[in-house]
Amino acid sequence: MTETHEIVVEKVKESKIGNIDFDNLTFGKTFTDHMLECTWRNGNWENPVIKPYGPIMMEPSAKVFHYGQAIFEGMKAFRDEDDNVFLFRPEDNWKRFNESAKRLAMPEVPEEIFMYGLKKLVDLDREWVRYGDGLSLYLRPFMIASENGVAAAPSTEYKFMVVMSPAFAYYRGDVRVIIASQFSRAADGGIGYAKAAGNYAASFYPNNLALEEGYQQIIWTDAASHEYLEEAGTMNIFVRIGDKLLTAPNNDRILNGVTRRSVIQLAQDKGIEVEVRKISVAEVKEAAESGELKEIFGTGTAAVIVPIKGFKHEEYTHELPVLNDSYASDIKESIKDIHYNRVEDKHGWRVKV
Ligand SMILES: *Cc1c(COP(=O)(O)O)cnc(C)c1O
Repeated sequence: MTETHEIVVEKVKESKIGNIDFDNLTFGKTFTDHMLECTWRNGNWENPVIKPYGPIMMEPSAKVFHYGQAIFEGMKAFRDEDDNVFLFRPEDNWKRFNESAKRLAMPEVPEEIFMYGLKKLVDLDREWVRYGDGLSLYLRPFMIASENGVAAAPSTEYKFMVVMSPAFAYYRGDVRVIIASQFSRAADGGIGYAKAAGNYAASFYPNNLALEEGYQQIIWTDAASHEYLEEAGTMNIFVRIGDKLLTAPNNDRILNGVTRRSVIQLAQDKGIEVEVRKISVAEVKEAAESGELKEIFGTGTAAVIVPIKGFKHEEYTHELPVLNDSYASDIKESIKDIHYNRVEDKHGWRVKV
């Protein structure tokens, strides 16, 4: 229980869960019965409120609409065979949320509000966490600048909120990517490492151009030289050359992914050699030519691991081989085993709700 912040709960009169077709969910379109809202005003967090999911009232002059002070997190809850519900490494998301908050000049959210609020919300809507392969409840904590007024200065009022959406890991179709040689999603000294809404806004236009060319995503390269791979769309990037797994080191342009950290750990547990180091485009193309390039995949909470089928860089194109000893599928299975409590949780990643 929290001592300083009591959570007020206003329940829905009737749950809408009976109307939901859990076999046909579009990602991020359906929301559970309740949401959490907590206001920061006069230098303090007020008591969080859990109430029915629905529209919020804000004036058009609210600063979030003008200066983009907005951050978010993405995390998931899973149900096991015995109807226990777990969060996956939620502390990591709470810490990262506050790193994002700091960079965007927003107040940090205390652990008791973030963690206890999240657990209480998930517990209230626990029927929405379904058991089954690929099923989960996607949690979206976010914070926006809610002060009215268009003066360009940090807001003096914020809303921290959590909404939740039942998710099904559907097959996304083949993913082919363009390695960026012109656009960047993040700059040195910028906000690339923060989960800031604006980073996504900046990526949509280049991504649309890629889609027009028949590619689903962009591999972002470093902004200064475009010679080193940094992220795969909105996921972290892994490249397998021979039997070695490579991933880019974190820097201020790269989002420090929880899935990335988990994949590194599980790969090492399996005895796979992992190198965290800069990966050059030239090296990947050479490995492609010599046949040593085995896999490229992205990692992130929403899809866990997404294998990349082919890539284009300037005029060069390459198709990845189809493997029956893929690291991507092997590691993905191992993460799912932990999510659904099918194996021992050696690293203490599951947190019971
Ligand atoms: C959220 C995100 C990731 C993945 O982070 P996870 O903690 O694994 O979900 C990677 N890159 C970007 C740009 C992101 O926004």
